Amino acid sequence: MSTRDVLIIGGGAAGASAAFHLAKAGHKVTVIEKKSTNTIKACGGGMAASVQRLFPFDLSPAVDEVINKVEFSWCLDDRVVADLAETSPFWIVRREMLDCYLMNQASLEGAELLQPLSAEKIEREKDSWQITCSNGKQFESRSLVIANGSKSQWPRKFGLGPKKQKHAVTTSVRLNGKGNLKGGSARFEFGLVHHGFAWAFPIANGVNVGVGTFIGREIADSQKILDKFLPDLGFDPNDGERKHSNLRIWNGQNVLHGEGVVAIGDAASLCDPFLAEGIRPALMSGCNAAHFLNRWLKGDNNALASYTQCMQKDWGASMAWGSRIAQVFYRFPKVGYQLGIKRPTAPERIAQILSGEMSYGDIAQRVIKRLLFQNQ
Ligand SMILES: Cc1cc2nc3c(=O)[nH]c(=O)nc-3n(C[C@H](O)[C@H](O)[C@H](O)COP(=O)(O)OP(=O)(O)OC[C@H]3O[C@@H](n4cnc5c(N)ncnc54)[C@H](O)[C@@H]3O)c2cc1C
Repeated sequence: MSTRDVLIIGGGAAGASAAFHLAKAGHKVTVIEKKSTNTIKACGGGMAASVQRLFPFDLSPAVDEVINKVEFSWCLDDRVVADLAETSPFWIVRREMLDCYLMNQASLEGAELLQPLSAEKIEREKDSWQITCSNGKQFESRSLVIANGSKSQWPRKFGLGPKKQKHAVTTSVRLNGKGNLKGGSARFEFGLVHHGFAWAFPIANGVNVGVGTFIGREIADSQKILDKFLPDLGFDPNDGERKHSNLRIWNGQNVLHGEGVVAIGDAASLCDPFLAEGIRPALMSGCNAAHFLNRWLKGDNNALASYTQCMQKDWGASMAWGSRIAQVFYRFPKVGYQLGIKRPTAPERIAQILSGEMSYGDIAQRVIKRLLFQNQ
């Protein structure tokens, strides 16, 4: 059995991003992906345009829409429109297209993709990792990247990520046709969903609609919400097929590496606990993990600890504030809507948040300063 430098479990956004950068650095990389290409993934597909910085190739072939308007509503009323035309910071992708595009780029750099194939068992033996797949095939690798999403059992087994995992509960629908949603427009609805929000994002020839709850474990009744939201978007309440999924969200600063192993993306519980932004941290963690694994493979024994530190600093610090903001906002959403989204400066701030130029920490500091100033 030949030993790989890196074996990546999961060819989603995180796994494909890591595969590309590691293969480009000259390593022998294999990705094992359970599902066939083009399987529709439950995901709104909203992605900060700033992720372009993480790749040396153009991402636009995988982008369906560039968003220049974001519309917010409270119980389908009290609308606020943020015009983002100047900045265009927010793109919409179909995840099956993005993941496939990234994986193709990784393959061009020499990464091997085995698909559809499911990894079933992982064991550490001396200096290597042994992976057994559903077809009985076994692989050996010097290092391992765990990138198999929210259902992964391996981070816990190897002591990576939070001990207590937190989840957003989601229902998503992909619809054919645009209804009354205009091209280049994204929609967020806050009042209808208890402890969360509903969204509608345009894709090529269709719309991704979804409902997500961020506190507690249940969506009150996603069909009741869709009964109101879909007609407001110009669709029949029963249009489209529903997919229900639990999305692992950020829950504290945690160790994301072990001996020759890292967890990335949803498997590492990186998804934003306020807005469910998970594509950017998946791509970012894939890119950072590749950078530090490259050093580790070249003999720097402390490099993987630097991966954890880097993700804590560049992502976790903001998510700590995001988590606090979510706890307050979703408990008092009407107040949050009035004081946050309806402020005159909101469109600019929203553009900065969606583009990733502003962190939750920046927002919290502004709010604190405003409160202090008001009390003087
Ligand atoms: C309804 C919904 C809407 C969302 N909307 C947005 C949004 O608009 N914007 C945003 O930024 N984020 C959004 N997210 C979050 C985002 O989708 C995730 O954070 C992102 O997919 C994480 O990417 P990943 O590569 O870590 O995991 P995944 O995309 O889940 O990829 C993991 C891969 O591993 C494979 N796999 C699983 N088990 C195995 C195994 N045993 N062997 C081999 N392969 C395996 C899976 O088939 C999958 O392809 C949304 C999530 C949901 C559920």
